[in-house]
This record gives sequence, C-alpha cells and structure tokens, in this order.
Amino acid sequence: MDELIIGSHVSMNGKDMLLGSVKEALSYQANTFMFYTGAPQNTFRKPISQLKIEEAKALMKETGIDMKNVVVHAPYIINLGNSMKKETYELAVQFLSQEIERCEAIGATRLVLHPGSHVKAGSEVGLKYIIDGLNQVLKEDSSVHIALETMAGKGSEVGKCLEELKVIFDGVKHQHLLGLCLDTCHLHDAGYDLSQFDELLDDVERLFGLERILVVHVNDSKNPIGAHKDRHENIGYGYIGFDILNHIVHHPKLASVPKILETPYVGEKAPYQKEIEMFRKGKFEEGLK
Ligand code: FE
Ligand code: FE
Ligand code: ZN
Repeated sequence: MDELIIGSHVSMNGKDMLLGSVKEALSYQANTFMFYTGAPQNTFRKPISQLKIEEAKALMKETGIDMKNVVVHAPYIINLGNSMKKETYELAVQFLSQEIERCEAIGATRLVLHPGSHVKAGSEVGLKYIIDGLNQVLKEDSSVHIALETMAGKGSEVGKCLEELKVIFDGVKHQHLLGLCLDTCHLHDAGYDLSQFDELLDDVERLFGLERILVVHVNDSKNPIGAHKDRHENIGYGYIGFDILNHIVHHPKLASVPKILETPYVGEKAPYQKEIEMFRKGKFEEGLK
C-alpha cells in the first residue's frame, strides 16, 4: 500500500522561515505541508534570499519530504474576480505573477488559489475577470501549477461548484497549468453530499480528469450541508464526520495527491499530529477536544 501523503498548513516566520515550516511539519509527523509565502491576509513578502530555502531543502531531503508534494497557498485577499475596483484587480494579477516566480525559485509546483469573488457584478463577470487574470500570469513553460480551490459559496465567491470551475478551465489558454484543490469543508458547505464522494469524483473525472486534482484540503465543517459558511472544524467533530473524511483521505484514486489539514487550533494547541495519526490508523479517537 502506498504511504499516505498528509500534512497541514504550517507557519513560515521568524528567523527560520521555510526551515521552520519543515520543522513544524516534522513535529506533526507529517510528510508534506502547506505554507503561505508571508501573511495570508496581506501581500507584503520578504525577498526569496531570506527564506532559508537551501537549509529547508537539506532537512527535507534528510527526512524524506518531497518538494513535489509541498503546497503553497496564495494569500486569500487577492481577488482576480474583482471587476469593480481596478487597483484591487491589478494588484491581484501582479501579486500572483510574483507568487508564481517565488514558487519557481523555491521549487514548489502546487499553488492553491481561491478563484475570487465577483463582489456585486455577478458570477459571469467575475468568471471573465478571473480567466483574463489567469491568462495574464500563466506562462506556457512554467513549472508551477495553479490549483483552483472549490469554494463554500459564502458572499459572492466564484468557484462554489464544479461547473463554474470548468468555465474557468475552458477559458484559460495554458490549461495544462491548471488543476483543482478539493476542500472537503467547502464542498460540503457548498451543498455537495460527501457521503456520495465517489459520484463526485466521477463528475470531476468527466469534467476535468482525475489527474487535475492537485491537492485535497481535509477539514470537517461546523455547519450543515449547504450552509455556505466556510467554518472549518476538527476532524470528527463536525457535520461531515470521521468516516467520510477517512474514506476520502484513503481513496485509491487520490493516492498520489497531498492531503492538507486546515482545521482550527484547540485552544493554543495545533491538532495536526493527532489528526494525522488518526488518519494513518484509519480510526477516530476521542481526546482532541
Ligand atoms: Fe483556501
Ligand atoms: Fe482550503
Ligand atoms: Zn475554508
């Protein structure tokens, strides 16, 4: 049996930067991780030379973390779907283009992006701007793949269903550089019944091809199906439940896809070591909270 590729989002800050991210991932017994190249809520970024990339890579090599499974998440404030404010849109295009360069320098090939929000312009306009933005930043010979995340549909989020994401795919010129990030909490909140996950996978296969799934975000949800809220819950404590999430995590068709936890801290404590351990055992255990 293939080894599960699983980790969580980790921080990158302080003196150690990416080296610290690797150490944090290892402290959870993870074999991959996801990080933001700076604060998720702003676009200030340190120069690549200060990220301790070589030290991080040396430790990864020693401990068997493969850079090809590492995930970068673009900051969630950039919005390619904003047709209302020119500066916001231009900032998003510019930032994303630099983020792709940063990923290239680091050697990361999977960049998760929230497609965007249409603000008040309607999905059709939002989709058009997102497509145009992606066409500006994607360069044919790039090694970085953008994984468009499935969204919960809160506010005016674009990408709350496979069909909207398919419109983006169809509009993008360098389609080979696009992929998907399936977020279980978002899918559930958007109205997908994850107890029927195999049917959902069939739809993904038909619309995009399974090889397009680049990342799975594994989260339980604080809200019932279709709530459009996007509030992540710890594994086994929400409306999706351990068994369904465990089925997804161990799905043979997703064996080569990194699984990333984005569940909330319990008080001051990161839940990831425990959650990773439960998935490795395939069994829910009380005691996290
Ligand atoms: Fe996300
Ligand atoms: Fe997510
Ligand atoms: Zn979320």
